[in-house]
Formats: sequence, C-alpha cells, structure tokens
Amino acid sequence: MNEPIVIRGARHWKTGRSIDVACAGGRVVDAAPAGARVIDAEGAVLAPGFVDVHVHLREPGQSAKETIETGTRAAAAGGFTDVLAMPNTSPVVDTVAGVQWVIARGRESLWARVHPIAAVTLGQKGETLTEMVALAAAGAVAFSDDGRPVRSAETMRRALEYARPTGRPVIAHEEDPDLKGDGHMNEGAVATRLGIRGIPAAAEAVMVRRDVELAELTRGRLHLAHLSCASSLDALCDAKRRGLAVTGETCPHYWMLDDRAVEALGTNAKMNPPLRSEADRHAVIRAIADGTIDCLATDHAPHTAEEKRQPFDHAPFGIVGLETAWALTVTGLGEPGHVELARAVELWTDAPRRAFGLPAVTLEPGSPADLVLLDSKDEWTVEPERFHSKGRNTPFAGRPVRGGVRLTMCGGRVTHDAAHASAEARS
Ligand SMILES: [Zn+2]
Repeated sequence: MNEPIVIRGARHWKTGRSIDVACAGGRVVDAAPAGARVIDAEGAVLAPGFVDVHVHLREPGQSAKETIETGTRAAAAGGFTDVLAMPNTSPVVDTVAGVQWVIARGRESLWARVHPIAAVTLGQKGETLTEMVALAAAGAVAFSDDGRPVRSAETMRRALEYARPTGRPVIAHEEDPDLKGDGHMNEGAVATRLGIRGIPAAAEAVMVRRDVELAELTRGRLHLAHLSCASSLDALCDAKRRGLAVTGETCPHYWMLDDRAVEALGTNAKMNPPLRSEADRHAVIRAIADGTIDCLATDHAPHTAEEKRQPFDHAPFGIVGLETAWALTVTGLGEPGHVELARAVELWTDAPRRAFGLPAVTLEPGSPADLVLLDSKDEWTVEPERFHSKGRNTPFAGRPVRGGVRLTMCGGRVTHDAAHASAEARS
C-alpha cells in the first residue's frame, strides 16, 4: 500500500539529528497529510534505501535457485530499494528483449527496483560484443560477463571503447582462467590440508592490473567486481592515483571470513573469488576504511540445497547475501571501529548510486521515498530458514550479529516491516 506515512523521531543517518520525515505520493514531502500512518522510529537511523550493485536474481531460467520475486523480497528485507541484476541467466541477458523482460518482471514484483546489467559479449562467450548502445537505451545500467572473465584483452579493450559513449561501466569479474584452472578455493595451506585444488590470489590480481591498463588506454569506465585480495586493491588504488575512471566493490564475506572458514563450513564457504588469507581480509578492511573501495555489494548468489550438498569440487560457487548485508557491515566494520556508522551507510547508499549514476535519494522533500530504517544495536542470530530468498546457502548460519533493518520503503510503499515480517508489498 502507498498510504501517507510519517516516520517520527528517527536519527538522520548523516547528521545524527532527530528528524520526522513525511511521505506521500511516493515522495518525501514537507508536511504529513491528515490521517497519515505514524511510524515511531525512536532509536533507529533513517537513510536512503540501500543499493546492491551485484545480485544474481537467477531469472530467466533458473527459478529453482531464485526468482525476481523472491530475490527482490529478500532485497527489501535487507534494506535494499534497488538491485542491479547480473545477466548470467539462462538465457543470458544480451539482447534488448532480454533487458526489457527483466525490467518488466522487476516492475511486477514491486519489492525493489530491478536494474538489469547486460552482457558484454553474446552468450557471455567472450567473442562477439553485444549491442551496447541499444542495450543501454533499453535500460541496461552496466555491462558484465560476470560469472566469468573477459578472457581476451582485445575484446575487453573493444568493450571499454564501445561502452564509453553509453556512460555505463563495464563490470569486470576478474579471474585469469588459466591460473584459476580447476581450482575450487584459495590456494594456500588450508587448500593443501584439505586436498582441494587452489586458486591463487594472482588469478584475480593479474586481470585487475590488465584491465586497469586497458581503462587507461581506452579512457573507458571500468568497475571491478567483488575484489578479494590485497594486490587487486593496490591496483585499484593505483588506478585512482592515475586519475582513471575505475571503481571497485567488495563483499561482506571478504571482510568477515578467510579461507579457514572452508574447513568448518564446506560448500557454504565456497564462492568465486574464494575466501582469501587473513592478510587479504585485513587488506579488504583497510581498503574500505581508506576509501579505495567505492561501494559494497553482496554478490547474492543463491543455489539450491541439492547443489550445495554435492562434494566440494562439484558444488557451485556462491552464497546469498541480501538479508545479512547490513548486519555483517555493522558487525564486521562498524562495531570493531573500522568505519563510522554514517560511512557504513554511505557505502550501501550514496556510494553505489554515485558509482552507477543512479538518481540521488535524500531525506529531503521532493526525493523519492526510498528509505530504510536501521537498528544498529539490534542483536539477532542468522537463521537461513527465515530468509525470504529461496537460497539458504550462507556461511553465517547460527552466527550472532548486530544491526537490523526495521523498515524498508520503496517509492513510498512499505516493502519490509520487521514488526510485521509478512508485510504485504502488493496493494
Ligand atoms: Zn563474479
């Protein structure tokens, strides 16, 4: 329902001041219309809705793992009003019709705005570039062959050149296919002990360095997905020093866990790039704290229980992340004092909007009423069976965390209300 709402007594995410915010007609307004519903937000922080720039919604074609409906419902529960959907579906989103289909399905679901990312190459095969200008005009917000790298430097060069006039970034999943080989976890002592073939951190870093050079050559707009290791972060820092249009993201699991988690958690700690060393984990935290990392993302990658039950070498890469993102940010970054709460919020709100050129959202009159009400003190335990996502594949099951999402509003509509966990988004 899109009724007028007043959020009373919240703390402004940036200033910390106590504020009342009124919403009507999908926007923040000066004053509440008569009869508006009042939400008591005492003790909670009010911020623009979160944006997740890296989500696998699995539709079309893989609805056993997730659907746009369930994935966006999970997004709303995690405080997200906007998600960028990766195109490695079945079929791959590499045509105007595909982009339009994802947009239409997203509009039906009403839980969050879905922004399609289109493939860089047809079928993500790394050969023929997609019609980027037409895809951007149809609504693609970025281009990515995520799930796999663009193997050929020449193809990547052309992709950065062709994407340039669209103003949309090429999002790179960085991994040298030869160095990765048949690896399934981080190369190192843990992999050796477990007898699992490893993937060296260099598999990521050499491709990051290659693409930074190509960003310089082409003056193209490059976004580095899910950075996991120190050397990649050095390369991102270097790109910024050189004034290149390069941005980068990392994900909660890379600051929460290192490769030792694989021993205890098995396939629920299997993702790509893999959990790295403790030193890499500290480097990720430093890069978030010092601003090298531009924004955060979940790389929400749901799989079925059957798929994840397979032996480690056969199970697919990926974990879910939408419903634990904020708690892992508070627990892993805020509480230990690595970043201030306002910066933690910014990394999920203004920062991704800036990096991807999405319209700004504020708490001021006129802004879309895309809002999230956060509890930074709320303590809870991660229970995957309570997720709205179809995916239960998380390494954080049973983990006590701090930081909850009390309420999410997208376009003035309440899409998540922790007090009534079954909040109805459909009117
Ligand atoms: Zn990826």
